[in-house]
Amino acid sequence: MPGFELFGELERKEVNDVLDNGVLMRYGFDGMRNGHWKSKELEAALCQSFETNHVQLVSSGTAAVSVALAAAGVGAGDEVIMPSFTFVASFEAIMMLGATPILVDIDDTLALDPKAVEAAITSKTKAVMVVQMCGSMGDMKALKAICETHNLLLIEDACQAIGGSYNGQPLGSIGDLGCFSFDFVKTITCGEGGAVITNKQKYYTHADHYSDHGHDHVGNDRGAETHPFLGYNFRISELHAAVGLAQIKRLPEFIEIQKKNFTIIREALSQIPEVTFRTVPEGGEESYAFLNFFLPDLEVAQNVSKAFKEHGVDACFHYYDNNWHYIRKWEHLTNLKSLFPISEEVKKGLEYLKTKEFSQSDQYIARNISCLIKLSWTEDEVRERANKMAEIIKEFV
Ligand SMILES: *Cc1c(COP(=O)(O)O)cnc(C)c1O
Repeated sequence: MPGFELFGELERKEVNDVLDNGVLMRYGFDGMRNGHWKSKELEAALCQSFETNHVQLVSSGTAAVSVALAAAGVGAGDEVIMPSFTFVASFEAIMMLGATPILVDIDDTLALDPKAVEAAITSKTKAVMVVQMCGSMGDMKALKAICETHNLLLIEDACQAIGGSYNGQPLGSIGDLGCFSFDFVKTITCGEGGAVITNKQKYYTHADHYSDHGHDHVGNDRGAETHPFLGYNFRISELHAAVGLAQIKRLPEFIEIQKKNFTIIREALSQIPEVTFRTVPEGGEESYAFLNFFLPDLEVAQNVSKAFKEHGVDACFHYYDNNWHYIRKWEHLTNLKSLFPISEEVKKGLEYLKTKEFSQSDQYIARNISCLIKLSWTEDEVRERANKMAEIIKEFV
C-alpha cells in the first residue's frame, strides 16, 4: 500500500516549486505565489480520480472524518454507527464533535454487517460510517438501502481503500461524504493530509469553511472575510499538497503493481484448502492494498502470525492481538480515559461498551491475517514470499 516506497523526481519537483516560490499556505498571498496553487491543483486532480464534484483537502484522514461529520451537521445528541474493526480515528472523530460512537459487528467483508447496523438504529442515530478496511469494502448496496429507509447519512471512510471501486464507482464517492487519508503509510501520501469528498455543494461549502476557522473564502483579503459559522483549523499546507500532487498522478501505476503482487500471493495461498478469503461484495473491485485471509481458528492464526515474524515475512498483521484496529484492545475507549471531562451524555452513551460482546467480529478477526501489499517488491521477491507464506501455513493447518 504505501506510496512512500516509490518516491522520486516528480515529488521533489513539486515540493521545490513551493520552496522556490515561498508561499507555504494554501490560502491568500495571491500576489506572491506566481500562480502556484498546489492544494487547488490537487483538489482538481482528486475530483477526477474519485469522480466527485467536490474535494476539500484537510490536514489528516482523522480531520477528514471530523470535518465530514461536522459538514453534515453531526454533533451533540447524535449517535453514529461505526464498525468494531476500524482505526481509532473513527471514534476519535465522532467524539471530537460531542457525538456518540455506536460500535457494531462486522461480517466476512471485514466491514459493517448490515444486520448489525439495522439492529443498532435508535431515534438518536444520525449517520452510519462504513469503513472500507484493508483495501476492500462493505456491502454498499445493503448499507445504502438501510440509510435511505431510515433517512440516515452514509459517511464512507475510504482511507485504506484508495483506488478501489464498487459497481464502477470509486470507493469514497458512494456515500453522502467520503474521507481519505494521505498519511505516510497510505497508498498515496502527502506526509500528512486527508480529503473530504462529496457531490453535494452544501456539504462542500461547509467543509471548506469549517476546516479554515469558518472563513467564507470570498475575495482575496483574508482579514475582510466573514465567518458564517464557527470553524477550526484543519488546513493542509502547500508543501504537503505538492507531494500529493506528484503521488496522485501515479495512482493508476500503484494500483496496477498492488494488483499484480496481490494476485501472486493470493494464488499461492488459495492452493491450501484450509485458507479462505474475505468476501468482496458483488460489483466490488479491491484496491489490492492488503491481502486478507482466514485460517481455521484463533490458535492457528496466532501460530502462523508468530512464524511469519520469525521467518521474516513482515507487514502481516493479526489484528486480534494488535492494538491498532480492533475494539478488543481499546481499553482507553472502553474506560473513557480522557485528559479532559467528557459530557455526561457521551459518558452515558458509551456505557454499553463495558458489557457489549463482539462475538461475531471476534469470529472473523481472530482467524484473520492481513498482509500489506508493497509496491517495491520485485516479482521474484513476491514469488519467494508467497511460497514461504504457503509453506508456513501448511505447517499449522
Ligand atoms: C489512516 C486512517 C485514518 C486516519 O488517517 P490519518 O491521516 O492518519 O489521520 C482513518 N481511518 C482509517 C480507516 C485509516 O486507515
